[in-house]
Amino acid sequence: MIPLLDIKAQYASIKDELDTAALEVLASGEYVSGPRVEAFEARFATYCGAREAVALNSGTSALHLALLALGVEPGAEVITVAMTFVATAAAIKYANAVPVLVDVDPETWVMDPASLERAITPRTQAIIPVHLHGRLADMDAILEIAKRHGIPVIEDAAQAHGAQHAGQSAGTFGDIGCFSFYPGKNLGACGEGGAIVTNRPELAAAVRQLRDWGQAGRYNHVRHGFNYRMDGLQGALLDVKLTHLPYWTERRREVAAFYDSHLSGSGLGMPTKPRELEHVYHVYAVRSSERDRLREGLMDAGVMTGLHYPRPVHMQPAYQDLGYQAGDFPVSEQLAAEMLSLPIYPELTAQQLQRICDALLSLCEDSHAEGYAA
Ligand SMILES: *Cc1c(COP(=O)(O)O)cnc(C)c1O
Repeated sequence: MIPLLDIKAQYASIKDELDTAALEVLASGEYVSGPRVEAFEARFATYCGAREAVALNSGTSALHLALLALGVEPGAEVITVAMTFVATAAAIKYANAVPVLVDVDPETWVMDPASLERAITPRTQAIIPVHLHGRLADMDAILEIAKRHGIPVIEDAAQAHGAQHAGQSAGTFGDIGCFSFYPGKNLGACGEGGAIVTNRPELAAAVRQLRDWGQAGRYNHVRHGFNYRMDGLQGALLDVKLTHLPYWTERRREVAAFYDSHLSGSGLGMPTKPRELEHVYHVYAVRSSERDRLREGLMDAGVMTGLHYPRPVHMQPAYQDLGYQAGDFPVSEQLAAEMLSLPIYPELTAQQLQRICDALLSLCEDSHAEGYAA
């Protein structure tokens, strides 16, 4: 079986480095925060080209604290996309704000700037574009709109470590960038992890307090804070893994290029070509009106696939209180019905890639023979 991603293969490829780092932390007793986490913060800030990085215990915590650090008030509106992982909307709820959803662009699958502009009201206090699948949202257009209205921008860069536009990296376009180091992400911890990056020191300082019980010095609680610190173990392991991330990203782009060239005549809907380095291929998804049949056929052929995501936020039972209905975000809804994520990870071999493409192409031929449009 070819998995959707192979975390154990990544561990095997750098086992000695990770084992050494983990054992050092165990012996050091620095289990929460500490020098290894600080070293990782410095390295991650440099990697992103940001002034500061603040390590946290998850990407969801990063989004939550970004909203609080920016002073988003209870009852305020925060605009994000319907096509995202539920955490983006959940974090807005954590801040007691109201998620206002907009649709994505049918070509790039990220925030549609025209829909964003229409959704802005006097109550809008933040905008959260999501770099879905590792492709940067159109930050030029989004920042132009945000600046014109004086609204801060938080990037959900949980899937987009190192994606670049005009030499600038994901997370550094807006006021705060939020990252996840969930194990399956492009840079993954061996457990939970997250971070914010920012060029505004006062926002970094606020997040540092908020992650550590709102403390400004020991037992001096100046804010209603949280226990959102990063483990020492995760800091040490992430610091090791970050040195390999540029190579892993290159490999993901090679896998994507293989799919681009081998599946282009298949009749499948393909991801549109990114400009320059704006895509880091956390997910490589194709589109088909026969998605479920292809998914089953691939499973029979020993190829695992994924769905990112099968239901937009406004169609989730927990978010019915937002008051949206089926049909409100037609692009997101169609993508949810048609997108199929193919295996993508740095360790995927040429033989595995060929097997995946052969299986998928033969399933596409079957559908043409039966007179379906793929
Ligand atoms: C993974 C992810 C998150 C949440 O990150 P966690 O570390 O799992 O809390 C948020 N937004 C998006 C788009 C994600 O993919």
